[in-house]
Amino acid sequence: MSVVIGNVHIAPVVGPEIESGYIRIEGDRITALGPGPAPDVPGASRIDGTGCLATPGLVNTHHHLYQWASQGLAQDATLFEWLVALYQVWAAMDAEVVRGAASAGLGWLALSGCTTTSDHHYIFPKGRGDLLAAEIEAAREVGLRFHPARGSMDRGQSKGGLPPDVVVEELDDILAATAEAVDAYHDPSPSSMSRVVVAPCSPFSASAELMTESAALARAKGVRLHTHLAETLDEDEHCLEQFGLRPVDYMDKLGWLGPDVWFAHAVHLSDADIGKLAATGTGAAHCPSSNGRLGAGIARVSELLRRGANVGLGVDGSASSELTPLAGEMRQALLFQRARYGPGALTARQALELGTLGGARNLGRQGELGSLEPGKLADIALWRVDGPYTAAVADPVCALVFGPPPPLVRVLVGGRTVVADGELRTVAHDAAGRAGAEAHRRLMRLAQERGFTVAKEVHGDQSAGS
Ligand SMILES: [Zn+2]
Repeated sequence: MSVVIGNVHIAPVVGPEIESGYIRIEGDRITALGPGPAPDVPGASRIDGTGCLATPGLVNTHHHLYQWASQGLAQDATLFEWLVALYQVWAAMDAEVVRGAASAGLGWLALSGCTTTSDHHYIFPKGRGDLLAAEIEAAREVGLRFHPARGSMDRGQSKGGLPPDVVVEELDDILAATAEAVDAYHDPSPSSMSRVVVAPCSPFSASAELMTESAALARAKGVRLHTHLAETLDEDEHCLEQFGLRPVDYMDKLGWLGPDVWFAHAVHLSDADIGKLAATGTGAAHCPSSNGRLGAGIARVSELLRRGANVGLGVDGSASSELTPLAGEMRQALLFQRARYGPGALTARQALELGTLGGARNLGRQGELGSLEPGKLADIALWRVDGPYTAAVADPVCALVFGPPPPLVRVLVGGRTVVADGELRTVAHDAAGRAGAEAHRRLMRLAQERGFTVAKEVHGDQSAGS
């Protein structure tokens, strides 16, 4: 299969920008790109890129797809209040809820230019079907490259943790299920559509033993590690009180710093913490909208970058970011950094790199993804920047990052069309959205049957039944 995109502005992230050029694709790879007219390739399908900006497909490095089914709740709570309000609702989910929520969440990602996403799924209520398989099936259908992170929690309230005991699992069960998930779904090949990650949920919901055993398992299997870290000051306090260490030092002690690890959030970092992440090659998934919504704080992204640490972007779960589009997170990241450090803190092109190559590095895929270069996978987003309003912006990358995300003409994953003219082409756009709405209704009903509801305006300690 050959595809040629012609007459397009190319922002390849690595290498010089091309104002008017072409991209040639053979099979699932980019074979050539350059300035000037598109080559004549017999039998190739041609995409007219006139008025468009081509960027690498965006990479999302933190999400909880199941949360699509619990949006709009506990809107004014802190992270800990919000979690306590929602844990019992999430305890009611089943494979059908996850399937529908994942379809909608993945469709929504694709519709904002995402071609690869990770998902951190950490609640596995007993007897409710194969939740991980459900989201993997949804990702296959939607056609995104998927890095499911088999999450876990074993530190319930009775062991000093935050979550109620009903949503945690036993250590041995977690390790067995995680190993099984890696064996069943992890494909290490360069063109891989599915790579499994080992991902205990957070220091306040996973025991030290789960953290160290998970790291040992991941390293034995050659897969990556992910967890939430340093998201709020409450977490700082919790770690100091329970472990006598701040979050990054605690993870260091547990063997959790290294080039095979990336942390979600990394908001509250000391200068020494930043040094440790940079020196060990540990990555961070910056989730500005979620941090903003929960009032968690602003990550020191520009300082992390300046000191050589890797940062990617994440939309985080929809229950704390609602309908946040991944492309919009580039803008949020840029504005948050500038609000904190001034207008030189982050450029539009640096923000684009966070959303592409930074994400690919978090997932260990910088050799195949994150930039437009010959030999890399043909994961490409084509944005229309000659619309009546965007056409007034002289610089297409500025139009993409500073504005609301422009319309998508095409999203290719490995050369395959996933989105065309703003619509999903792998599944019916409305069907994915409708499945998400049905998942929401189903989860609310299942939770109610167990005696749990969360009002939209309440704080965690007011949730019924908790
Ligand atoms: Zn999260």
